[in-house]
Amino acid sequence: KMHAEVIAVGTEMLLGEITDTNSQVISEGLADLGINVFYHNLVGDNESRMAEVIRLAASRSDLVVISGGLGPTPDDLTKQVVARYLGRDLIVDEKAMTKIKDFFARRERDMTPNNKVQAMYIDGAVSLQNEVGLAVGNYYHDEQGTDFLLLPGLPHEMKSMFETKAKPLLAQQYKGQQVLNSRLLRFFGIGESNLVTKLSDLIEKQKNPTIAPYAKENEVTLRLTASGSSDVDDQELLDELEAKIQKRVGQYLYGHGENNSLPSVVVNKLRKRGLTLSASESLTGGSFQAAITAIPGASNVFPGGFVTYAAEQKEQLLHIDPKLIEQYGVVSEETAGAMAEQTRQIIKTDYAVSFTGAAGPDPLEGQSAGTVWIGLAGKDMPTRAKLYHFPYDRQRVRSSAVMTGFGLLND
Ligand code: ATP
Ligand code: MG
Repeated sequence: KMHAEVIAVGTEMLLGEITDTNSQVISEGLADLGINVFYHNLVGDNESRMAEVIRLAASRSDLVVISGGLGPTPDDLTKQVVARYLGRDLIVDEKAMTKIKDFFARRERDMTPNNKVQAMYIDGAVSLQNEVGLAVGNYYHDEQGTDFLLLPGLPHEMKSMFETKAKPLLAQQYKGQQVLNSRLLRFFGIGESNLVTKLSDLIEKQKNPTIAPYAKENEVTLRLTASGSSDVDDQELLDELEAKIQKRVGQYLYGHGENNSLPSVVVNKLRKRGLTLSASESLTGGSFQAAITAIPGASNVFPGGFVTYAAEQKEQLLHIDPKLIEQYGVVSEETAGAMAEQTRQIIKTDYAVSFTGAAGPDPLEGQSAGTVWIGLAGKDMPTRAKLYHFPYDRQRVRSSAVMTGFGLLND
């Protein structure tokens, strides 16, 4: 049965200067494709040790995915080492070579011989174009032996090539051979232990599909993994299990898959319904609005908002009555409600959210750190505000408030 192994190449990681995030992204993507990963390796930019790791990986895995070492510096050796292992030459990808030549011509700089290596690929492999950089990737398929996928080290180049070039190839190549089909369920508003308790009998008894819970900073996920004989059966098993889970904790389930974050689910929901949203933020300092605008298509939903950190700006920009703030304080139901209401009126949106609270570490107006009010104003609904206590440090109080705002909007 088919399984893969991931290798990160780079001495910086051995020295502890950076952490290997690529392998995590690659593993997640392989899991999405239903490809089982058995090993993660980390090796420095050293020719003989790289060769050793590659030999070992090839001896035990069907697919070896390597990130790093495709660049132009002398320590970038991945392609050369894999080509030597396979007993193949490196040949020039003319399209990529033209791109590199143009790149240097435009900057009136001379190309070094090393730059040429960036346009080379292993004879017999597919050269994967790099849309955001110069070095091509490689996908080498061997019916009898081990497949190799070589990706750049820079995380954004790696991600771009993996998503747009490699994944479609892998999906096609290993269709029907996957040993597992998996589905990611994403939950918000329930803690990991609570979720696991509610599903404990399922988690314990369930052999196929299996359920693997995972707590992230502001959400919990369950990965359901089926390992049946056919794709159709697997999907059925996954559907059945998901229905059981839905019954118990469906109100917390907000989305599926790696790419559907809570902000993107909310933005897409609003967009489909033709609804608009604005926001005013105190303790979150604009991070809610940053999270909205990070989602493609946000402009259809979000015209703008306010960052009103000091009380005076709540009065000036949002025209909140100073007497109201004086009477109730900035961290209050009344202020949160007024912020949302005023924002909605001024920007003229269907909904408006507001955030006010004590991010910490010190209390604010006698309110303990982590106390947050989130206001929500909308057409056809009374303006309301909800109180939260986030028992975390400053940054996490702020990020929890932001995600909780999205959670409120998703209800
Ligand atoms: P370049 O053209 O930049 O040399 P490359 O494909 O040769 O690209 P590397 O030299 O291995 O890649 O890495 C370039 C940079 O990318 C590293 O300095 C590091 O900051 C980052 N990087 C490489 N591998 C990883 C990884 N596994 N996880 C996170 N970051 C990485
Ligand atoms: Mg490099």
